[in-house]
Amino acid sequence: MDLQQQARQWLETAVAEARAGLAEGGIPIGAALYGADGTLLGRGRNRRVQDGDPSMHAETAAFRAAGRQRSYRGTTMVTTLSPCWYCSGLVRQFGISRVVIGEAETFHGGHDWLAGHGVEVVLLDDTACVAMMRDFIEEHPALWSEDIGDE
Ligand SMILES: [Zn+2]
Repeated sequence: MDLQQQARQWLETAVAEARAGLAEGGIPIGAALYGADGTLLGRGRNRRVQDGDPSMHAETAAFRAAGRQRSYRGTTMVTTLSPCWYCSGLVRQFGISRVVIGEAETFHGGHDWLAGHGVEVVLLDDTACVAMMRDFIEEHPALWSEDIGDE
């Protein structure tokens, strides 16, 4: 399996998390952390609404679910949406090697910055991910503004 195929398969985990979040009345962003050998280390979703916690982003949730890892070398953070500055910072802080992104059309986060700092970025331009966020933003513009810190 080549990287694109692998990335698409991993994205399905993140999409399942995003859909579960949507079903809970939350913001549909999902993520998963995969180990260097392709093992799923952790998965999670944005839980701003569910937990009343604006710091619980999808990537943070997946990262925390993975528990303590001796090293993040070779790991891949998979996320349905381009990572915000906070989550991009998490990727750099812990030396996560690669980021797989479902889409960066509805929100352009820090992935260019990550790429400029040696993180391998795989942008899949997934149409289903774009549609999911478009629908959500249209139906919940205030909640979306709150999440991205945009007044
Ligand atoms: Zn984030």
